[in-house]
Amino acid sequence: MVDQKVHEIILASIQKPVVGEAGKTGSWSRFKPKIDLDKCTVVKMNKDVCHFCWLYCPEPIISRTIPPKINYEYCKGCGICAEVCPPKAIKMVEESEL
Ligand code: SF4
Ligand code: SF4
Repeated sequence: MVDQKVHEIILASIQKPVVGEAGKTGSWSRFKPKIDLDKCTVVKMNKDVCHFCWLYCPEPIISRTIPPKINYEYCKGCGICAEVCPPKAIKMVEESEL
């Protein structure tokens, strides 16, 4: 596992696009990511030790908080966050299941 200090330096150096830069992308897909907080590493450890979902979301509309929160208004339903989540805590579900 990467040292916490190194992890923070890497994350702080990353440049992200502005929320809403591509318009209201929330209507692009009927599938949305749902986080199972019982499986999420940062929630379980109460520490900023993962946040891969925040890092890889192309929008970026997942907060780097504990727990991570998703802004569905701009989520395009690409599923990248679900793919990169190490413990598979994110599942893509129909919007009605949120
Ligand atoms: S990638 Fe998965 S485990 Fe990591 S912070 Fe996001 S939801 Fe939690
Ligand atoms: S599916 Fe996940 S990675 Fe894709 S836009 Fe929505 S929150 Fe971001």
